[in-house]
Amino acid sequence: MPTFRAPRGTRDLLPPETAAWTRLERLAADLATRYGYRRIETPLFELSDVFERGVGEVTDIVEKELYRLTPRTDDGESWALRPEPTAGIVRAYVQHGMQTWPQPVRLTETGPMFRYDRPQAGRYRQFWQWDIEAIGDPGPAIDAEIIELGARFYRDAGLAGVEVHLNSIGDPACRPAYVAELTDYFRDHREALPDLERERLERNVLRLLDSKDPAMTGLNASAPKITDRLCAACAEHFAAVRAHLDALGVPYRLAPGLVRGLDYYTRTAFEFYVTGREGQQQAIGGGGRYDGLVELLGGRPTPGIGFGIGLDRLLLALSETGTPAAAEPDSVAVVVGADPDDTVGRLKVATDLRSAGIAARAELGHRKLGRQLEAAARDRAHFAVVLGDELAGGEVGLRDLPAGTQKLVPLADLAREIERAHGAHRHGAPES
Ligand code: AMP
Repeated sequence: MPTFRAPRGTRDLLPPETAAWTRLERLAADLATRYGYRRIETPLFELSDVFERGVGEVTDIVEKELYRLTPRTDDGESWALRPEPTAGIVRAYVQHGMQTWPQPVRLTETGPMFRYDRPQAGRYRQFWQWDIEAIGDPGPAIDAEIIELGARFYRDAGLAGVEVHLNSIGDPACRPAYVAELTDYFRDHREALPDLERERLERNVLRLLDSKDPAMTGLNASAPKITDRLCAACAEHFAAVRAHLDALGVPYRLAPGLVRGLDYYTRTAFEFYVTGREGQQQAIGGGGRYDGLVELLGGRPTPGIGFGIGLDRLLLALSETGTPAAAEPDSVAVVVGADPDDTVGRLKVATDLRSAGIAARAELGHRKLGRQLEAAARDRAHFAVVLGDELAGGEVGLRDLPAGTQKLVPLADLAREIERAHGAHRHGAPES
């Protein structure tokens, strides 16, 4: 047993698995750019208040899962590691006066989130999210843009059969009456409620609808549905979101019990699931509209909508569906040499190749040439550049490892020659 291990619920991401992460992060960044979402980076920790207000105090995330940091000074500030990115991004929107920028402000952030949850498959204490936020547009068209973007991300990542679950959870005009009705309903069933839910009933009854407790499944199925109680404005908004999704050809399933675990959501709420795996804790992404959040965090009333897509669960789903993992890029060239001690010569040639944009590794040990070549083949390099006696005349050997051929190339032409032959090899053209 090693003396130290990564903390429970966290993982080291190691090569070659990290190649799959890199691929997803690039895909996310490319899509965000294509859709006009610009990168933001917020701190990994914020004042606890940002999450208590922005996520809601009567939520699992704040009540049970917040990683609170012990301050080193006694200035009374209390911080917590971010359990989700939206509250921090909205805090930044208000702090930096983004209300004066052209609206909506489209932002994207990718990084680790922290929740003190009981670890299990697909549930970690540190996990990664790709996050998209559009702040300053009341929708409904942008709601559809964001849902379509999420669905496209899964498709481009290679995960088939992802389903959008969609709901509207109303707004301050219509939710209070629904909440009162729901409270009455659960009060009538008080005896059947698990302890935690009975306690939450009077504090935040909506939470009961997305309870993780299996004892709630039946009760929730028979509960009154918010979509039957929406005010005219919310009903119209919801219908328009659906019409936009229909026009874009994005399929979705109406999910009247979907309320999301966070307090600040209004109107549109959605989650992404792999078809057939729709249980609690199985969502691979989710988001919604938060028209009250900017004001809650001290800004002018401003609407917003966004999603967070869990990268850990997406990778898990990809491997479970047998999608081939992304390969690590191989070294194109490995520089080896007949003189085991000429590390200067090998390193210099490799450095010049890298300056020319070629992925090259130099053999920096003092092994014999045969061993160096074996290692180059194990690296699955395309070429070995062999430094030998011809170096005195300005030439090196260029060995095509898969083809088993070798020729002499002037050092001055090496990069160009490698690029040409490697390009032809990759594109399947016959080499000359
Ligand atoms: P949430 O804000 O809870 O809806 O989370 C958004 C997404 O992040 C979820 O759909 C999951 O894909 C992912 N996620 C949330 N919590 C965890 C966790 N503890 N471990 C791994 N992924 C998570």
